[in-house]
Amino acid sequence: MRQLSPEERLQKEARLMKEGRKRYVDELRKQLKEFHDMGEVCESERTLETAKRIYRVVHTIKGSAPIFGFMRIGFVAEKLVRLWEWTQDSANDWDAERIALEFQHGVHAGAQWKQQLLMEFDLYCQEMELDEHQEQFGKLTLAPSGGRLLIIDDDEALRSYLVRRLKLEGYEVDHAADVVTAQKLLREHNYDLITLDLMMHPQSGYELFEFVKEDPTLKWVPLVVLSGRDDIHDKVRCFYLGADDFVTKPFQYEELSARIYSLLKRTKNFEQMAFRDPLTGIYNRRFFDHQIQVELQRVTRYPAPISLVFIDIDRFKSINDTHGHHVGDLVLQGLAHVLQKHLRSTDLIARFGGEEFVVVLPGSTAPDAQKSIEFILQQIRSEPVAQNDGLIFHITFSAGISAWSQGMTIEEWIKRSDDAMYAAKQAGRDRVMIYADEMGEFGSSLSDGADEHRLTVLIADDDRILRSILVSKLQHLPVSFLEASDGEEAYSILTRQSVDLCILDGVMPRLGGFELLDRFEKECSKPSNLSILMLSGRSREDEPAKGMSAGIDVFMHKPFSMVELEMKVKQLLHIQ
Ligand code: GH3
Ligand code: MG
Ligand code: MG
Repeated sequence: MRQLSPEERLQKEARLMKEGRKRYVDELRKQLKEFHDMGEVCESERTLETAKRIYRVVHTIKGSAPIFGFMRIGFVAEKLVRLWEWTQDSANDWDAERIALEFQHGVHAGAQWKQQLLMEFDLYCQEMELDEHQEQFGKLTLAPSGGRLLIIDDDEALRSYLVRRLKLEGYEVDHAADVVTAQKLLREHNYDLITLDLMMHPQSGYELFEFVKEDPTLKWVPLVVLSGRDDIHDKVRCFYLGADDFVTKPFQYEELSARIYSLLKRTKNFEQMAFRDPLTGIYNRRFFDHQIQVELQRVTRYPAPISLVFIDIDRFKSINDTHGHHVGDLVLQGLAHVLQKHLRSTDLIARFGGEEFVVVLPGSTAPDAQKSIEFILQQIRSEPVAQNDGLIFHITFSAGISAWSQGMTIEEWIKRSDDAMYAAKQAGRDRVMIYADEMGEFGSSLSDGADEHRLTVLIADDDRILRSILVSKLQHLPVSFLEASDGEEAYSILTRQSVDLCILDGVMPRLGGFELLDRFEKECSKPSNLSILMLSGRSREDEPAKGMSAGIDVFMHKPFSMVELEMKVKQLLHIQ
């Protein structure tokens, strides 16, 4: 017989273990039922014989559950074994009264362990079912809304049960056993919902309640109280304090889960209504006003550059006047879409009012922001933002940028960007400008629309950092830069507009540099004024001679010398 490879052996073991677990679960279900029924017998049946059977069952569970990986069930069963160990004490001469007493104690003291045992079993079954499902249908998330939850409860067993079940539903779940830990987590992360146990030690849940409701950034987080007491005073007090729901222990997990789901969904809907602009779907002014404070709190804590851009569509009124308000609306939607498509998910985009948009770019200096917005303006210039009745609509915009600096108020910051935008309008529209004081003077516009004789360099590389290094190193040359993060994007730019030099990465997602040149050869020939500087990460031996014939003017290997690159760029562009 052929020897199994180590990998095959592991796979086989995993399969056998899985089959074993499945069979064992059926067995365990019977044992748990037996254990449960024996604890419920009437007085007359509470005999030493029944007690011994209880012992045997829990003893079996304790021994076998861990073998199949059900460690926590084994752990709980061990607690029960201790409670029923008296049945094994053969030296004792038990009289009926003693037995009844011990039996009573076993059932009473074991109630919480029994409960936990059933919970654990239920949980493992869920986990196995989910595994099975994932195997059949691939990965799935059960919680349609997802979200990050914080479970605060000092009952270790309940807490870990809730955490595991909620995780199974696709939530991200953190937990805390006391008020101090919870406060620390609440300061460090953003939560979508909190569940809070009222009876905790040493500080009660009420103290956390106050902490949450007094903090302006936390007070709107949905809060579900889980209370051990079904006390009307507690309930009333919690609702007045701002609880969104109140659940009394013990509860059915399914009910809590459904309540959490519905609260998250409702909150999301409210957010949608309160913080989104209904026309464009992006954030509205109200959200912007709130979020900009959060962003500034963050940079005060962790200093980093952050820039604010003010964008205003050029001659928008004439679109409305000529084609009607409806077309104006389509244009606004189109611009919002382009902004969302090209900015990072961490950038904040909002409609400030009318045909004005604001963008906050955390981590970006004013020149960084200028490059990003300039790129978007290039897209807007070359592609229609809207279509209606067979007509296509092109727009341009004017944008002003200002970077935040220590001590600046939000109002001053917005005003600076607005002033820079106004300066862009004055300078002839269709451009992106940085606030004067930050530039020394108005007029640093990469997109100098009037300056059409400028040379254009396209940097096509999927490495964003390399792109920004290249731009910053070559910035002093009299050229405008365009960027593309893959070959498809580069190809579409090169076929749409005039580019003098393309610094082209050999290997990129979607379409590599070599494939791009191939495509030129097949579909339309390479524009005659376009020079290609190929940056290749491949080893020299692989250097494809065919690349040179495909129109590469200069070939450089990564890592390359910046000085040499600058020299080659100047040569290719005939810059002295
Ligand atoms: P400029 O280049 O100087 O910015 O010229 P402009 O025509 O864009 O400037 P102006 O501020 O005079 O015009 C803005 C217009 O935007 C006026 C208003 O009717 C229109 N507008 C504001 N909100 C909306 C909207 O929600 N939908 C539509 N369709 N138009 C809107
Ligand atoms: Mg305006
Ligand atoms: Mg305008």
